[in-house]
Amino acid sequence: MNTAHQIVIGLEIHIQMQTRRKLFSVESSGFTEDPNSQISVITWAHPGVLPQLNQQAVRLAVRMGLATHCSIDQTCRFARKHYFYPDLPKGYQRTQSDRPICHDGYLDVWSEKSWKRINIERIHMEEDAGKSIHDQDPDNSFVDLNRAGTPLLELVTKPELHSIEDAIAFLAEIRRIARYHGVSDGDMEKGNLRCDANISLRPSEDHPLGTRVEVKNLNSFSFLQRAITFEVNRQSSLLVRGLKVEQETRAFDSRNGTTLSMRNKEDAQDYRYLTEPDLPPLQIPDAWLTEEQGKIVELPFQRFKRYTSQVGLGEAEALTLIESWGMTTYLEQMMELGAPGKASANWLLGPVNSIWNEEQWIQASISPEKMSQLVSMIDQGEISHHDAKDKLLPALVESPTATPDDLAEKMSLKLVSQAGHIEGLMSSIMEANPAEVKRYRGGKKGLVGFFVGKVMRELKGGADPKEVNQVVRKMLEEE
Ligand code: ADP
Ligand code: MG
Repeated sequence: MNTAHQIVIGLEIHIQMQTRRKLFSVESSGFTEDPNSQISVITWAHPGVLPQLNQQAVRLAVRMGLATHCSIDQTCRFARKHYFYPDLPKGYQRTQSDRPICHDGYLDVWSEKSWKRINIERIHMEEDAGKSIHDQDPDNSFVDLNRAGTPLLELVTKPELHSIEDAIAFLAEIRRIARYHGVSDGDMEKGNLRCDANISLRPSEDHPLGTRVEVKNLNSFSFLQRAITFEVNRQSSLLVRGLKVEQETRAFDSRNGTTLSMRNKEDAQDYRYLTEPDLPPLQIPDAWLTEEQGKIVELPFQRFKRYTSQVGLGEAEALTLIESWGMTTYLEQMMELGAPGKASANWLLGPVNSIWNEEQWIQASISPEKMSQLVSMIDQGEISHHDAKDKLLPALVESPTATPDDLAEKMSLKLVSQAGHIEGLMSSIMEANPAEVKRYRGGKKGLVGFFVGKVMRELKGGADPKEVNQVVRKMLEEE
């Protein structure tokens, strides 16, 4: 990507909320393979039926707003947005327009080695449409309405992102926040998180914003990255030739990484918004705000900051940890129990992460207490890292109710931790090898390995190499 211009990006992020029921009706909003099996008369839009607002969705919207420092509009309302499409039987979508439930928030994100505050214009609730299917039959299109009416949040940022890295960092943080707070599983492959990217260029920060292009429906980080790259190159090459960028909506073609015009400003749709007459304005009780505030946890990027500045983790390690709610929660529990942060993090990121998936982190069949004991056994030199990883951990997975200490004992993995015993062996070895002792004391410090090797052989490997090393050095230094 190559441009002399400043890049300006604003994101509109759609988040499917994790509720059992749809936004205005009682059928399941969960995914099913069986098309058109989860549709009530409300979703069908039979005449005379009335919507019933799902309170859990409102709570999740409030929670997401509070987590992103938004103000909550306790008397917000719904609107009808009219358009015609086969997957929208009512002829309008219920959404929020002039009074969104959350507005004026912000998030601090770590991007390109610095903290950036990105302002959030609004978050509103809306229902999803159904799905049109065009690729199953040469002559017919199909409609599956299971998704129609499932609850979405749409989060709109200010045009304050200035690079691919900014956009990805922001979207990733939103997805983590949604997961940490039980708002959404954020599964982009299933379309549960997707975004539109508004992209423009301007000569520099002092200039007014340039004309933007909106690229619709990006449902992976890689599509977002490729769409921005293509648009920046396309717009830049127009501008340097003195041509204008048209304001338009474009679609991303993932097969060749390009964007294609869908519609321009002239045929922008008039949605004839009107206040939803079938639903009264909301009255969100103060108590809900207090209760939802109580559920807000440390934000992922705040946790990242703590991990890098206080726990001593590298950036990449901290990022991997915060990406998994299960793993970071588990680490927090271990640290609360007094386990050393860095050693625990390395242990979790390495051996444990290679055997546990996200679900298993959350189930935590091996309790954080036991895992802390295990890490402290390694830390204290009671067991080698190698044995802990290859023998003790698998044994613990097999019998999660056993204690690591007992298991290590039973499996004879405990290292001999007897300085006295090592000293005894070392004295005889020194007596038997006076020439080597002399040469060591004469400056051939490398000979320490010779003695350590002999002691370890006597102990048949059943000792902590660190401890053996210490004792051996100490005795060689003493004249
Ligand atoms: P609409 O509702 O028509 O899509 P909005 O004004 O609400 O338009 O903006 C939608 C998104 O476009 C927001 O995320 C906003 O930050 C972004 N945006 C607005 N103007 C620009 C611009 N000139 N360049 C890039 N993004 C922009
Ligand atoms: Mg838009």
